[in-house]
Amino acid sequence: MIETLIEKGYAYEKNGTVYYRTRKLKDMASCPIKIWMICSPVDVHLLVSGEDEKEDPLDFVLWKPKKEGEPAWESPWGEGRPGWHIECSVMSKKYLGEQIDIHAGGEDLIFPHHENEIAQSEAANGKEFAKYWMHNGFLNIDNHKMSKSLGNFFTVREISEKYDLQVLRFFMLSAHYRSPLNFSAELMEAAKNGLERIINSSRESEIPHAKCENGDMTDEREKLAGSTVYVENFEKAMDDDFNTADAISAVFELVKLCNTTTDGASSKEYLQNLFDCL
Ligand SMILES: [Zn+2]
Repeated sequence: MIETLIEKGYAYEKNGTVYYRTRKLKDMASCPIKIWMICSPVDVHLLVSGEDEKEDPLDFVLWKPKKEGEPAWESPWGEGRPGWHIECSVMSKKYLGEQIDIHAGGEDLIFPHHENEIAQSEAANGKEFAKYWMHNGFLNIDNHKMSKSLGNFFTVREISEKYDLQVLRFFMLSAHYRSPLNFSAELMEAAKNGLERIINSSRESEIPHAKCENGDMTDEREKLAGSTVYVENFEKAMDDDFNTADAISAVFELVKLCNTTTDGASSKEYLQNLFDCL
């Protein structure tokens, strides 16, 4: 990919280092730059570094020459290693193709990493890199940013020793993905209880189903109509930029409906319909 970028004039080599020629992105009529230099309030002066062999302070590294004691690979520019950003563009192309539907990542990666990925991939491939970008908020621990220096750091493996990972997934869906999420023991307990309520309710509508004697619905049709509203609300919330918090509320409304409108006298048909919804 670096060779392609050089051929197309988007990159140049200086003493074993290959740089991306950032300002050339302006020429890329077929590949509009969506983020680079538009959304980021980047002060160009902050980008000036000691690398005065660069043509422009905005240029970033694609290939670095070998340093003693570091792993290195053969290349047309001598032994060295790829820059962090180009690794992602190349891996994405190799495994997913030239264009992907959704690119996700932490909000801290927007600049420079994701913008550089767009610059590299779109210049090399001549097409839009990703149709949608989804950047998630940070996970805080007891309202503090998670960091190694504070020692408030958990791995997923550590959490899995205490909780079923299904509970962790459910907990993470309790906030919108772009919002910061706070992790605490109480909130995990709440997630665990909430998930149990949903699972129990779906089981309960299944169990009496086998036993109940009334076959068809009679006066239960109206109640069932209520359940379709919750299904619609769920879908609407998910269609609105994956608003999982609202989607889960709709699931709980449905659980409430199941819990308050079913008993031994319920019809098979009603229970089956509710169970299918859940
Ligand atoms: Zn990446």
